[in-house]
Amino acid sequence: MSEFNYDLFVIGGGSGGVRAARIAATHGARVGIAEEFRYGGTCVIRGCVPKKLFVYASKFAEEFEDAEGFGWSVGERGFSWEKLISAKDQEITRLEGIYRRNLERTNVELHDSRAVVEGPNSVRLLSTGQVVSAKYILIAVGASPNVDEDLIGGEHVITSNEAFNLAELPQRVVVVGGGYIAVEFAGIFNGLGVDTTLLYRGEEVLRGFDMDLRTAVRQEMEKKGIKVVCGDTFTEIVKHDDGSLTGKTAKGTSLQADQIMSAIGRRPHTVDLGLEKAGVEMDRIGAIKVDAGSRTSVPSIYAVGDVTNRANLTPVAIREGHAFADTVFGNKPWTVDHSLIATAVFSQPELGTVGLSQEDALKRSPNLDIYKSSFRPMRHTLSGRDEKMLMKIIVDADTDKVLGVHIMGPDAGELAQVLGITLEMGATKADFDRTIAVHPTAAEELVTMREPSERIRG
Ligand SMILES: Cc1cc2nc3c(=O)[nH]c(=O)nc-3n(C[C@H](O)[C@H](O)[C@H](O)COP(=O)(O)OP(=O)(O)OC[C@H]3O[C@@H](n4cnc5c(N)ncnc54)[C@H](O)[C@@H]3O)c2cc1C
Repeated sequence: MSEFNYDLFVIGGGSGGVRAARIAATHGARVGIAEEFRYGGTCVIRGCVPKKLFVYASKFAEEFEDAEGFGWSVGERGFSWEKLISAKDQEITRLEGIYRRNLERTNVELHDSRAVVEGPNSVRLLSTGQVVSAKYILIAVGASPNVDEDLIGGEHVITSNEAFNLAELPQRVVVVGGGYIAVEFAGIFNGLGVDTTLLYRGEEVLRGFDMDLRTAVRQEMEKKGIKVVCGDTFTEIVKHDDGSLTGKTAKGTSLQADQIMSAIGRRPHTVDLGLEKAGVEMDRIGAIKVDAGSRTSVPSIYAVGDVTNRANLTPVAIREGHAFADTVFGNKPWTVDHSLIATAVFSQPELGTVGLSQEDALKRSPNLDIYKSSFRPMRHTLSGRDEKMLMKIIVDADTDKVLGVHIMGPDAGELAQVLGITLEMGATKADFDRTIAVHPTAAEELVTMREPSERIRG
């Protein structure tokens, strides 16, 4: 009989924790998991999934407009926020059920409770006060929205958590932030007919992405009617008797809104988790420090996902959880390679990107060939919509290796997934050139750009 109640205790039933628990259990480990809110975690309950459903909902207005160019007459349109929320809630409840059942099916013991670390091998379940012991503990508690502590009237501001469940759709919204969540929500609100402003203190939205893509998506967002204000931020929010809000900015302007949504980054969820007591090292923002195998400074405690602040995406958390479980319980050691991660931004238009931005590529290779094409997708020849698609390939001129591909336009995220495989395989520009085009598609542009639009020689 083992000296511990469990071989593994997982704190957090989100993307990383659930994957780790299930894989460890299938390797024969006795596994317990604690979740303080709802199984599925941020991604399923208040992240990727509801966000994408909202993006779909918000695109119909343009679809109806575009249809007219193809001969359709679309009758009177109406939109019910209530109906959307209720359909979204139903879907999330269905998914949460699947997460629970999959854990139960692999004999993972579920605890619907907040859990805190008591020591290197013990965890306290706050719902009952029970302390359980485990040979290994996995921290997979994710992250939560940042709040601006200095903002006067900050209590009147909502985050993405609340935006998914607003009682009514606001008429005017200001989204604060310039990261992917801010940009995506600005598109959602705007598409649903809300008067939308995006307020960002930086000089251009989507810091960290390729600059051509950043500029292009901001311009397209503006064409769709979103007011993008860069280089400024709120210093004070005032709530009026009728519930409306005035946001005063650092540059002295005022913006009126019915809701102000802050999306200024996310913070690891490590406050009051007992990590200091157990000796787990964290960085300045509370992210748990781990090695390549996700092990913390305490040998029996591991951490995966957003709480480690490596690459804060669902598929990465899942990978990290899987690698941990295979390594520790399956006698199959492996680590996650974080160097090449294809990703999408569900802005409108959508972005898909894999590999290095031009700015980052330049830091690695002095000689680059840049292939760039900006064009009107075929659909918009008849729809009449003034919307461009952008494709950009960054090639190391010395080796011919493709270092990055960046796309703005319909289904860019889907394309990024496939391009991710080619870049993982080390594709060269010659490989792209050898590939016969699929016609008529937008993606054929990727294999038909022959002449660089720019040659950079360091
Ligand atoms: C609005 C939004 C949109 C997003 N869109 C995308 C996207 O399109 N694509 C993408 O890849 N990623 C997206 N993400 C990011 C993605 O959701 C996260 O990277 C992912 O969920 C991280 O998984 P995780 O396992 O680390 O943490 P989480 O999924 O956050 O799970 C952590 C879980 O731990 C629970 N918990 C916390 N503390 C405790 C405790 N002490 N005891 C018990 N339980 C606890 C929480 O309730 C939560 O369920 C989005 C995030 C947000 C907020």
